[in-house]
Amino acid sequence: MNHVIMKSKIFKFFIYTLCFFSFFLVIPKCEKALPVVDSSDTILTSKLSDYYNFLVTMKSKGFVFWDFKTFLGTDTSKLPQKLIVIRHDIHGLDIQWAYPTFKIEQTLIGNGHSTFFVMLNNPIELMNKNFIYESDYLKLILYLEKYHFDIQPHISPIDMYIENKHPKWEIYSKDTLEKMFTGNYQWEISKTGRQIKITGADVFNLNEINNTLLTLLPAYNAQWTTQTGLNVQGYSAHGTSTVMNAVLNNAYLLDQFVLLDAGVYEYDAYNSKIFNILTYLSDNNMPSWMTKPDSIMPGRYQLLMHPHVWYLVNKSK
Ligand SMILES: [Zn+2]
Repeated sequence: MNHVIMKSKIFKFFIYTLCFFSFFLVIPKCEKALPVVDSSDTILTSKLSDYYNFLVTMKSKGFVFWDFKTFLGTDTSKLPQKLIVIRHDIHGLDIQWAYPTFKIEQTLIGNGHSTFFVMLNNPIELMNKNFIYESDYLKLILYLEKYHFDIQPHISPIDMYIENKHPKWEIYSKDTLEKMFTGNYQWEISKTGRQIKITGADVFNLNEINNTLLTLLPAYNAQWTTQTGLNVQGYSAHGTSTVMNAVLNNAYLLDQFVLLDAGVYEYDAYNSKIFNILTYLSDNNMPSWMTKPDSIMPGRYQLLMHPHVWYLVNKSK
């Protein structure tokens, strides 16, 4: 009898011991299944610590963060008092830093609170045999798509036009182009867009430029959709170094009623209708607020955040 009791006790001890150790065996498996930031992510995100601090500070000050899709879908009278619409323009050098940017946002403000404007199919980059990032643009888009981020194209209409039509002025200097513009055209700018007034001769054949863009932009959008599976809602205009961009700027072209009213795109991030509501915070010249976000006053903003620029600021310290 004692022998049987003894055996039963040993059996119970065995079962309890098994349960005890199985607890430690199972838990790590559960932990591994959680979407944790791995060590390489931690290293990358630490190199964007200024952006991390920027979001932490602005969040603590009561700001909310939106993508352009949400902003444009909301009645202006219902916009939050403290709002940051986040715009990422993604060039080749930004791609590597777009992933930790995504990770930081995912951690601090959640998925889908910024718009990534990706420079897929830029005509100058496509012509450059040394340009190595084309497939990486697409990989990034497909990655962000899984997390329901707003993803739109970063485009250069003036380069699209020049590449397609090769106008005689494509080789002219900036001075010559500026003189041609000043003597013959004037912008008429309103709160919701602009139009060009021909005050002399239409030396650039502006109607032809706009009509060509009304063919090229839908073709661009169709290719974007074929490659990404996403529809185009709007663009952010690229500040290309093409000389004509200093005169007939991409942002000005896309702000024209003649293009906006054609139904090819809903907006460009530089549009008058956006600039009149959101104050522009651009990282282009590495301003001091990048590292001192406390200096930003309450208000409604468009933040242009290039992941590579924030990496450079961090590195320079
Ligand atoms: Zn750009």
